[in-house]
Amino acid sequence: MLARIRHPRPPRPASRRRWPAVAIAALACTTLVTAASDAGAACFDRKTQPYTMVVDAHLHYRPFGGPAIPFTEVNGYLAKAGVKYANVFGIGQALPVDSPCTYYLNCPGTPVLPTMNNDYVNAENYTEDKPDDVRLSMSMTFPDLANPAGIPGQIATLDGWYPRIFTWMGEANVMKQALLPNHFEPATKADIEAWAPFMKILRDRNMPITLHSDLGNADNPTQFLGLMREVLQRYPNNKILWAHMGLSRELPAIDTALHQRVLDGLLKRHPNLYLDVSWRILQDLYFSKPGVSESYAAFFDKYSTRVIPGTDFVASRDKSYAVYQEELEVNSRIYQYVNDESFRNIALGQNYFRLLGLRDTAPPVCTS
Ligand SMILES: [Zn+2]
Repeated sequence: MLARIRHPRPPRPASRRRWPAVAIAALACTTLVTAASDAGAACFDRKTQPYTMVVDAHLHYRPFGGPAIPFTEVNGYLAKAGVKYANVFGIGQALPVDSPCTYYLNCPGTPVLPTMNNDYVNAENYTEDKPDDVRLSMSMTFPDLANPAGIPGQIATLDGWYPRIFTWMGEANVMKQALLPNHFEPATKADIEAWAPFMKILRDRNMPITLHSDLGNADNPTQFLGLMREVLQRYPNNKILWAHMGLSRELPAIDTALHQRVLDGLLKRHPNLYLDVSWRILQDLYFSKPGVSESYAAFFDKYSTRVIPGTDFVASRDKSYAVYQEELEVNSRIYQYVNDESFRNIALGQNYFRLLGLRDTAPPVCTS
């Protein structure tokens, strides 16, 4: 049996608030008819049922700073929107508690540093308020990938308090240019080499890791590709999700053919690489241009088993259900263009089930 490791437990966060039972009941009553609720049907009819994903594999329950939307309220959003599976991410880097900022871009100079606090808060909320209508996978979001020596010890600490709760790691940042004004330290190739002990733990547990690693920027669209290559070459047997396919606001436009060529090369060479296609900027900056959705949909059809859906919603208290619903819809728009096999694998969750070793199966898509 696993010995409980004694470490000081962090104080319970002030922002934890329970929803009144009445409010939860009201939410349950307003649950929409959705893809997921029809999953028991013989087949999924894309003509009459929603194109929104039933898996949100990239969801931050904790904000960069300021109050969070309560855990049970976020779970209510998922149920209402027809999302049946979600990854519970903290946030890789948090603002200091005494900062008035809620978003790092608004406060350059304020340090945004890795912390374990959000993982404790999420795990505590999960053990107390585990929902029965949404299946959650808890994720360790704390790793400081530029200073990896402490990561195995930190995993042991979380294990001590919350054994067998965590089944995922990330979103952790290799290179995130947007955070550079906030004292963020990107991982170097030497740091990546030093990940070996914790990457072995992930392999032994079959735990996927979601990595944010910017591909490049407007001046050099592939400036940081070498970092992702280094990760994939060094850890070919780890299940690695490349967050946002490497895209970011710092790379507001990239030649579609060039981007897909990069992805194609990596996906061919590294069978354990998956594309995390979350974040609304993918739709807003790229897919919304003429012909681009069709092009990426064809690419997803080619690598239909290697794409994982998500929203990248960040649950800060200034947002509401309407924002989650909008981000879910915007992030799902691309799935209108993929073929039936891809739709089942990606939007209906089959890839996610396989990745996590779940016994669940997505319904087949109806043929007309
Ligand atoms: Zn994210």
